Amino acid sequence: MLISAVLPCYNEEKVLPMTYGELTAELQKITDEYEMIFVDDGSRDGTCRLLKEFAGRDSHVKYISFSRNFGKESAMLAGLRYSSGEFTVIMDSDLQHPPELIGQMLEFGRQGYDQVIAQRDRTGDKRWGSFFARAYYRLVDRLIDVELTDGIGDFRMLSRKALDALLTMNEYNRFSKGLFSWIGFKEKIISYRNRSRAAGESKWSFRSLVHYGVDGVLSFNNKPLRFCIFIGGFAILLSLLYVMFLLLSILFKGIDLPGYFTTIFTICFFGGVQLISLGIVGEYVGRIYYEVKRRPHYLVDETNFDQARK
Ligand code: UDP
Ligand code: MG
Repeated sequence: MLISAVLPCYNEEKVLPMTYGELTAELQKITDEYEMIFVDDGSRDGTCRLLKEFAGRDSHVKYISFSRNFGKESAMLAGLRYSSGEFTVIMDSDLQHPPELIGQMLEFGRQGYDQVIAQRDRTGDKRWGSFFARAYYRLVDRLIDVELTDGIGDFRMLSRKALDALLTMNEYNRFSKGLFSWIGFKEKIISYRNRSRAAGESKWSFRSLVHYGVDGVLSFNNKPLRFCIFIGGFAILLSLLYVMFLLLSILFKGIDLPGYFTTIFTICFFGGVQLISLGIVGEYVGRIYYEVKRRPHYLVDETNFDQARK
């Protein structure tokens, strides 16, 4: 097998026939040695039925159907585990990741690059969306040790070596942008023009994006914990200075009027600091809880893969 394409799909019945058609046309141009692995992430529409139909008439099509929605990260992981290609391409199933790029990616892959990454520009993005995204990347860059770049997502080609390395990481909370960057190896970035989704609608709400953002920061190191310690230290230092100042002013000027404002302010401010710190610690504890349970990342309901192979 030369190329495996891994496509997570969640309620994508509207766009799947188009994706299947375009991708097949593109891959056929390159080679006949390819497989398309569609991972149905517990879709509630006709996605699974469509996949079975494709698989019925085309032996290049493999599908894995989850017992419920486990999220895109889990869907990608499943596809990657089953992938047998020398090169593996990960792409969205809504045609936002143009299949035309695969040829170019393969070329670089053959030149010895282990990760060929497609970087999109932000053409046609909602203004606010891209403003938040840019601010987020700037912030995250300081907070975590792996490097993330704006416009780089999951659309990439991995060599067998890079894929095997990626699969050694078994953590439950997966933040693949960080994982891809963590493994390293020789990388090549190519850019493409952003496209909007061909049909159907995006599964990301603002809320889920915020959650994803928090995951990204917390799943990669303990800098936020350290940040709490610094803030706490700074707060203690400030309050010591303040107490000293008060003491001196009492010594020299006698007892002042009761400082209602300052008292309330301090209580509120430090209450806030403590809550934030507790929250961050709690997040880590929660994550540890999930990790130690060692639950599987997903459960497969149906597939046309030989189950024994995995
Ligand atoms: N997806 C998935 N499981 C989910 C949510 C999304 O497998 O729980 C897939 C979805 O089918 C698509 C890809 O992840 O192929 C990207 O999703 P979407 O297009 O909704 O995100 P956007 O492009 O808007 O960031
Ligand atoms: Mg999309």
